[in-house]
Amino acid sequence: MGKRFDPGVQFGVVIVGAGPAGLVLGNLLLEQGIDCVILERREREAVEGRARAGFLAAHSVRVLTEHGLGAGLAARGRVHRTCLFRSGRGEFTLDYGQLGRGEVHTVYPQQELVRDLLAEYLRRGGEIRFGTEVEEVTEGRVRVRGGADVTGRYVAGCDGHRGAARAALAARGTRTARWDHGVTWLAVLVQAPPSLSAVGYALHERGFAGHMARTESVTRYYLQCPRGNDPADWSEDRIWAELATRMRTAEFGPLKEGSVLEKTVVDLRSDVLERPGTGRLWLAGDAAGLISPSAAKGANLAVLQAERLARALIRALGRDDDGGLTRYASDCLPRVWRAHEFSHWMSNLLHGPTAGDAEARYGRALQYARLDSLRTSRTHQDFFAENYTGI
Ligand SMILES: Cc1cc2nc3c(=O)[nH]c(=O)nc-3n(C[C@H](O)[C@H](O)[C@H](O)COP(=O)(O)OP(=O)(O)OC[C@H]3O[C@@H](n4cnc5c(N)ncnc54)[C@H](O)[C@@H]3O)c2cc1C
Repeated sequence: MGKRFDPGVQFGVVIVGAGPAGLVLGNLLLEQGIDCVILERREREAVEGRARAGFLAAHSVRVLTEHGLGAGLAARGRVHRTCLFRSGRGEFTLDYGQLGRGEVHTVYPQQELVRDLLAEYLRRGGEIRFGTEVEEVTEGRVRVRGGADVTGRYVAGCDGHRGAARAALAARGTRTARWDHGVTWLAVLVQAPPSLSAVGYALHERGFAGHMARTESVTRYYLQCPRGNDPADWSEDRIWAELATRMRTAEFGPLKEGSVLEKTVVDLRSDVLERPGTGRLWLAGDAAGLISPSAAKGANLAVLQAERLARALIRALGRDDDGGLTRYASDCLPRVWRAHEFSHWMSNLLHGPTAGDAEARYGRALQYARLDSLRTSRTHQDFFAENYTGI
């Protein structure tokens, strides 16, 4: 793909991973004439077909648009501005587009964004190698399984949470702050139109259920389930029955059902590297920190970090000034931690205890107190909206 791969060439930047972080970074580097190569473990079809995120924050849309990467989302993305909470005490809707800073989400499936980013990267003359697994990352050099080493002035680790770049930083003593939310979701993608015009969060004694639009014919649902559950234990009938109970369809009306396209189990865990790089190795996206999906922040942090890292690398390679790389860490980390704080708060709001003892009754009462505050306090609603859409 792109120019012929020559093992002797030193690139400006070797990018590991073709997810949102790696592809945004690659496009921004090419825009400024910085040569780079992306090494991706999976084949192109798998990269372009991986359904995950869908909610893009206003900041992400701005970055993508400013750098000529927003045509697809402008044409096919849908503005989303409301979310709905359901519980044993009824339901209420927040029009967050009218609250806080008045910002909204754009719903655009991650796999479509990845397809757009890849097409534009290739159009800009970028080089990418699919089916290329990086085994080890050292300063300015990566070792590829079954192939020659690839070298660059810098290596950008955008290879996700379990990638080689993070392992390399950890081996050099970079510490990680980590939290297990103790919650697991069955994440389901169904061939059916959205059932609600809003994002739906349902609080229930049997566990949380969530509804998120993706396209006009595909919807994502979440069901809190016990840790260690096998997706195979969840038949279509069981999924729809459990969604109906938790989303209280007897009270609020039926869901639009369809066949299940995909079901996976996600343990809600979060972590942040205390420093996203050093010397000639810098990380962005899930490689630099994993955030639980409870507030839909992961892909948005990936775009933020890729943009900041691109700026710093362009400066380092163009002006021989690596001060921007040092600032990359101090610039991103406070924003990353705000996103984590909000995500953590959302997780506490959505997941109450499911047992029935005195502690569980206390925990559930706190959950309802949080929800009630959000329902009745304009100040709380503004705070929610600012953090829900912001990055
Ligand atoms: C069910 C679910 C729903 C989500 N919903 C949302 C949402 O609505 N909004 C949101 O903002 N976020 C959401 N997220 C999070 C979001 O999908 C991730 O944060 C995002 O994909 C991170 O992008 P990335 O580029 O850092 O990593 P990834 O997308 O994981 O990309 C990393 C790439 O690196 C490649 N790779 C890995 N190891 C190697 C190696 N050794 N060598 C070469 N290549 C390698 C991988 O194959 C992959 O293509 C969700 C996540 C899940 C699981």
